Amino acid sequence: MMMLTKKMIEIRSILQMIGQSSALVLPSIVVIGSQSSGKSSVLEAIVGHEFLPKGSNMITRRPIELTLVNTPDAQAEYGEFPALGLGKITDFASIQKTLTDLNLAVPAQDCVSDDPIQLSIYSPNVPDLSLIDLPGYIQVSGLDQPLELKQKIADLCDKYIQPPNVILAISAADVDLANSTALRASRRVDPRGERTIGVVTKMDLVEAERGASILSDRKYPLRLGYVGVVSRVPPTSGGLFSRGSGNITSAITQNENAFFSAHPLEFGSESELAVGTTTLRKKLMHVLEQTMAASLQGTSDAIHQELEEATYEFKVQYNDRPLSADSYLAESLDAFKHSFKAFAESFGRPQVRELLKEELDQRVLDLLAQRYWNKPISDLTPAPIEPDPLSDLPKADPESLYWHRKLDASSSSLTKLGIGRLATTVVANALQSEVDRLINASTFSTHPFARQAITDASSSILNERFYSTSDQVENCIKPYKYEIEVDDNEWAKGRQNVATVLKNELNACEAAEKSVESAVGGKRKLKDVMGFIDRVKKGEVVLEGDGVGGGGGFSAALLAKGREAVFLRDRASTLQMRLLALKSRQCSTKTNKYYCPEIFLDVVADKLTSTAVLFLNVELLSEFYYNFPRELDSKLGRGLRPEEVEKFAREDKRIARHLDVVRRKEMLELVLGKMESLRDLEGREKRREADR
Ligand code: GDP
Repeated sequence: MMMLTKKMIEIRSILQMIGQSSALVLPSIVVIGSQSSGKSSVLEAIVGHEFLPKGSNMITRRPIELTLVNTPDAQAEYGEFPALGLGKITDFASIQKTLTDLNLAVPAQDCVSDDPIQLSIYSPNVPDLSLIDLPGYIQVSGLDQPLELKQKIADLCDKYIQPPNVILAISAADVDLANSTALRASRRVDPRGERTIGVVTKMDLVEAERGASILSDRKYPLRLGYVGVVSRVPPTSGGLFSRGSGNITSAITQNENAFFSAHPLEFGSESELAVGTTTLRKKLMHVLEQTMAASLQGTSDAIHQELEEATYEFKVQYNDRPLSADSYLAESLDAFKHSFKAFAESFGRPQVRELLKEELDQRVLDLLAQRYWNKPISDLTPAPIEPDPLSDLPKADPESLYWHRKLDASSSSLTKLGIGRLATTVVANALQSEVDRLINASTFSTHPFARQAITDASSSILNERFYSTSDQVENCIKPYKYEIEVDDNEWAKGRQNVATVLKNELNACEAAEKSVESAVGGKRKLKDVMGFIDRVKKGEVVLEGDGVGGGGGFSAALLAKGREAVFLRDRASTLQMRLLALKSRQCSTKTNKYYCPEIFLDVVADKLTSTAVLFLNVELLSEFYYNFPRELDSKLGRGLRPEEVEKFAREDKRIARHLDVVRRKEMLELVLGKMESLRDLEGREKRREADR
């Protein structure tokens, strides 16, 4: 039967791990008393060590939940602060120091805090007990103490002296019991004195006869009775048992026994009075055991209830889906790799080719604009001696050196663009942004840690391959820098392709002009400002300061929009003109390449693309597809420690809740199992006692 408290204390520590709800609180003994009533001395006599904060100005500011665990086979005595993770502390002076620091950490203006300090003490010399030490009641607030301190302490104590807790009410023998704050507080919550143990300290300070009459008090009857103690460490032993070392219990009890046996008449066995720390310890064990036993059914019901709630939540919210941090990570990683594989299958040579060709199409458009389409900038200079590339192009003389040079220079600009770098960058960016997209679509999207790890994995592979890939590509396109052969088929294909490119560009120009129109506030307004800009261009009007301060009745902003629209309109009309040229008979054969630079440059771009793609595929794509999943495994799979996996999973609030429910359910099942076997044990004990 005496195992009950121990088992219940074990159960309580499990419940504490899962954040017990108030329904699951197991009974404890709460210790109350006025300041200097000898409260600390009583607790220290039970523990056998001085470990509580002392000092004239030291009031306890936080409750101390003291768990005593009897370890019969152990040699060492030690304490542990489970919430602080400081490990085993064998030096009780250091426990005292830690408690003092924790106390001082409560800001003075807060007075007291109801956040309890948990302290467990393991020793072969302590009984299994669960005690809560509360701040001592103060009579008058000191000058330097906030006025409300007294009230706050009383409120805090009131919170703890509720059922099912047992109240240990400490009063000093040299103070009239009628004035005992502890007894008064206990009577308010336990008027019939059913769960209060009275402790009368400092029995040595009053006449034995008077002491005896206090203990046999009838004015404040308590069912659990009064115990008289002398729990001060005897002064003579001070040197022998210096603070913090050695066990003081026997020194105290010897001193105490000497006192009580010196007054056999008052305190002898005839008197039937309960005296001595040893008696008190036994009483505490017995009473707590009884209280625990009485609360077994209730606690068990409460745990049942909690378990049912957890099970229900698990079913409704999580569809009974089991989950652990490990399985969550493994599933997420699998799903991610799966989605990556699907992407890898859909993004191969043809897709890279398309991507790259689009990029080069843009470069070709830029080159054409720069070298053929744009009219000379200044409208005021006399007509250029050289032909106007745009308007003279249709009549270009294939024998003229001018057109030869122009086309050669254009195609050489294209081949010397730095295709190696450009192509590698385009593909690497595409891969990186696809990885980002996959992350966003995956469960990893809510996990900053994994997100970073995946991004790092892909960028490290891409960076590593970058230079060798771009060098390879550059080397392979080298021949095109010197000579470009075009056959009829290529010409026909280029003619078709570039027409599409120009059409798309034309659509884009028209759309852009529309959006300028709506930004300006209508067709009419835009037409006005465009007309003005056209006149400026023709030199019919002069625009002061290039229109910085506005002009012609238009604001600077409006003029800027007008210029944009004029540019777009002119570009659109150029494109239309060139589209017509492309369709013409002149452009149908490769012999006329000087008439149709668009087609020729497209063929060049196409050749560059095909060659680049060949090497990109081998050097970058295949390498990436092979290495990326392996890199993921090492960064997010086997490479992670269990606590990192847990931390990762908990980054997602939903998963953290799910894990909590699973864990809570498991813990409650464990606890319930333990409770049930305890109740069986208790039932058997009862029957045995009845049989006797
Ligand atoms: P607390 O403020 O209630 O925790 O009281 P303490 O345990 O610190 O005791 C206050 C003072 O009373 C200290 O100086 C103790 O040495 C003294 N004291 C405690 N118990 C006894 C006792 O049984 N007999 C005597 N003579 N003094 C005691």
